Amino acid sequence: MTEEIQDLVIAGSGVAGLSAAVYAARADLDPLVLEGDEPGGQLTLTTDVENYLGFPDGVGGMELIQRGKEQAEQFGAEFRHGSIESAELDEQPLELSISTGESLLTRALIVATGASARWVGAEGEDELMGYGLSTCATCDGAFHRGDDVLVVGGGDSAMEEALFLAKFADSVTVVHRRDELRASEIMADRARNHDSVEFVWNTELLAIKGSQEKGVTGATLVFHLDGYPAQKYEAGEDVKVEEVEVGGVFYAIGHEPNTDFLRDTHVDLDDNGYVQTSTAGDAWATTATAADGVFGAGDVMDREYQQAVTAAGMGSMAALDAEEWLESVDAASAESPEAVATEADD
Ligand code: NAP
Repeated sequence: MTEEIQDLVIAGSGVAGLSAAVYAARADLDPLVLEGDEPGGQLTLTTDVENYLGFPDGVGGMELIQRGKEQAEQFGAEFRHGSIESAELDEQPLELSISTGESLLTRALIVATGASARWVGAEGEDELMGYGLSTCATCDGAFHRGDDVLVVGGGDSAMEEALFLAKFADSVTVVHRRDELRASEIMADRARNHDSVEFVWNTELLAIKGSQEKGVTGATLVFHLDGYPAQKYEAGEDVKVEEVEVGGVFYAIGHEPNTDFLRDTHVDLDDNGYVQTSTAGDAWATTATAADGVFGAGDVMDREYQQAVTAAGMGSMAALDAEEWLESVDAASAESPEAVATEADD
């Protein structure tokens, strides 16, 4: 019995994967979408999205994702649980080992596996993640009614988390390692102008106190006037160390691309693990990677913009690129079927 070979598998069901699925399904490629470890991706963890084109009053992240999935299904995309654990991408068909134990064969693959929250590396975080320490205020904020909480980070995510937590917590303190925010002005202003949100500058988190029974009870902070105090603490420099009592800690220090399964393949990754596509070097942007038939889209390849709307755009680009690639392979095999037959015999 011949094992079924898909035309296109899309790994990831965040906004990039969904947008790719809509385009590919409309092009009759019958895409199979692997939903990944975090179905729906990061937008499912966010509250209102105010900067996605076409929603003047904003739209909930979860709603945007649900509607995107509906749209893709309507055109014929199939969704399946699971993520890629390892992949053989050197020859056709591409072979994917899935976390559910099954193995998939496909001609083309769009990698839209996104990125996962980065951890600080503070003492106690392994034990307390999920027990008062969190990377998602929208998921866990409501557990902190009346608490004093810390948010670590200085970007848009940290501002968003702080503003969301301010609905529940007594006080929210943003802990930032330097004295200037990375966040956009509009987000920074909202946080600065909120009565329950405070900032501690040039400060980092060394340790989180508590237990799985009691949750987070406190934290150890380190301060140095010139910023980046943890490095200075490690180097034995003169820094100020302070213990604070808090009922929750939220990390919002950016994300790391989900590309472990690509490490032993021909897909090029940069020093931070992001998928390299020809966008980086060629005059004309495409989403093709160094492995034939493999394309990248969204936060897994985007070290710069990381917006929902850019991820959606890249998803559509990847689907168009994959469609063109499949057509070019079909055209080549129609012209010289002997070559294809020989390849199949090898
Ligand atoms: P980000 O912009 O990379 O900011 C990460 C922040 O965490 C920075 O302030 C960084 O400090 C700090 N940081 C990094 N590593 C750290 C460490 N080990 N210890 C302490 N602090 C650390 O990440 P993001 O805030 O997740 O945003 C990512 C992208 O998503 C951005 O493009 C952002 O605009 C977008 N986004 C947009 C919205 C929105 O528009 N509503 C909401 C969320 C995110 P330094 O500044 O010193 O580097």
